[in-house]
Amino acid sequence: MITITSKTSETPKKSGSLFRLFKTYFRPHLGWFIGGTVFAVMTALFANAYAAILAFVGNGIQGAIESPDGSTDWVWWAAGGIVALATGRALSLYLMTVLNNTGVQRSLVDIQQVQFDHLIDGDYARLSGDASGGFVSRFINDVNAIRDAGLRFANNFTKSVVTVLGAFGIMLWLDWQLTLILLVVYPIAFWPVIALGERVRKRAKRAQKQVGDVTALLSEGFQSHRIIKAYGLETYQKDRAKLGFVERSRLFLKVLTDKAAVDPILEVTGGVALAGILGFSAWRIASGDSSLGALLGIIGAIGIAAPELRALGTLNAVAQEGGAAADRVFDVVDQLPAVADKDNAKSLSSVQGDIRFADVVFTYPDGTPALKGLTFDIAAGETVAFVGSSGAGKSTIFNLVLRLYDIDQGAVTLDGHNIRDLDARSLRSASAIVSQDTALFDDTVGANIALGRLGASAEDIQRAAEAANAHGFISAFPDQYDSEVGEMGRNLSGGQRQRVALARAILRDAPILLLDEATSALDAESEAKVQAALSDFAKDRTTLIIAHRLSTVRAADRIIVLDDGKAVESGTHDELMALDGAYKKLVEAQLN
Ligand code: ADP
Repeated sequence: MITITSKTSETPKKSGSLFRLFKTYFRPHLGWFIGGTVFAVMTALFANAYAAILAFVGNGIQGAIESPDGSTDWVWWAAGGIVALATGRALSLYLMTVLNNTGVQRSLVDIQQVQFDHLIDGDYARLSGDASGGFVSRFINDVNAIRDAGLRFANNFTKSVVTVLGAFGIMLWLDWQLTLILLVVYPIAFWPVIALGERVRKRAKRAQKQVGDVTALLSEGFQSHRIIKAYGLETYQKDRAKLGFVERSRLFLKVLTDKAAVDPILEVTGGVALAGILGFSAWRIASGDSSLGALLGIIGAIGIAAPELRALGTLNAVAQEGGAAADRVFDVVDQLPAVADKDNAKSLSSVQGDIRFADVVFTYPDGTPALKGLTFDIAAGETVAFVGSSGAGKSTIFNLVLRLYDIDQGAVTLDGHNIRDLDARSLRSASAIVSQDTALFDDTVGANIALGRLGASAEDIQRAAEAANAHGFISAFPDQYDSEVGEMGRNLSGGQRQRVALARAILRDAPILLLDEATSALDAESEAKVQAALSDFAKDRTTLIIAHRLSTVRAADRIIVLDDGKAVESGTHDELMALDGAYKKLVEAQLN
């Protein structure tokens, strides 16, 4: 019994993930970050030099007050120094940002690519099981969170730490007693802001989650607009949307209200701190223990260090979110596919198309039993139709022929080889499938057909389109085969999409043809034409058909009737009618 396990992130290891993220994806672009760090240090040093210049100015003023006839050259030095510092800091800030941003963006390309590759190469069960919309928004949100964390770390961390340490050093040098007092008072004054920050973060998270719900609500409402109109469901939808909007604004308002308190609190604590510093310094200056220069320099240093301290304070939250996103990325990247090639997997050079299911038992990963001991044998070149009520297991058979899942018991063989021993690519290249899900991509009609056999010539593409009764409508387009089909093929009608998908399958020229409601979107006339072309095309191929319209399956060499995951009847149309069993019931139900 084989069960498909999926790892979940029950034990978040956030800081570890962030470190691993850095090691794996950021390190290859280390050069950019080293350059960025050099300029971050320079930016910090330039900022601190402001405080030193202010101290210099203070001492100059004090000297001028004490001896009014002295030289005023210091004013020119100070003014020139300030301009030079401003220019230097601006330049290094710019270079730091550009270098770090480049490094982060390049790392992000790798992260996205690796994640996408794993999802595409990984198990079908994963992308089809999870609501794929969830994957899309997760993918985008995670990349954004990692981008934020990367940028904040690269651009803020070094700059802030060096600035704060530098400012601290200057303050100690100017007046160590005052600095030590500040060191004790500062954390107490800013504790409320830190506590508030925690609360904002928690609430923001909840609000963020609700954004996902609103997104789903919107896309549901917009996509189903036709049905909404037709059923007169406008009011129902509007009420639902309104509930979502109100809830969203309620959550956001909470976050914004908390955030609104941050600046006023800072204003008050900052004011009290400034008053304290002024009073203490004035007293020390008056008693000759300190100087105007020291006071100005310290105020300057605090002004420079305070915003950097705040930035460092919020870095933890950003890192947490980045770490959670990194966790999810590694969840994707670390999960090994359950359906994987064996080390010694065989590659078939030519396929006859003999398909056998021997006592196949299969349960979907979510626990839904689908096949309960299904046995059949299809000879190469035979056309077999599967019929049975919805949920009987017809589409599952196609999933298993393509080995999108591994079965629990029994065997599926192709030309006598257990398909588990085959290289999955070579197995799948032996089949062409057409299903209701036409899977057209936002490209030209020609390009969409060519996906059946990459590199096919224009003549081959046209021949396939002719066989699928698609050449006519394609030629009528202004750009013919170069016409864009639009996202999910939305520029084409359902029947046109299906014929393009058929052309793609025909172009593939594979020995096995899997038709799952392949002509269901066609009108009777087109269907008859396509059926004629298909039966010609399918002559020497193993063809498996699922169709609701029993008229479509009548011509099959054999019909297998499924019920609840098992084959209950098998034979030609006439034989099964004579049997007077399940098949006859289905036919009669359809006639009525
Ligand atoms: P049919 O094609 O005859 O309508 P299916 O092969 O699609 O039947 O489904 C057989 C059973 O497997 C049904 O109970 C169905 O609900 C279930 N099933 C089909 N696809 C999935 C899936 N991707 N995940 C879980 N259960 C599934």
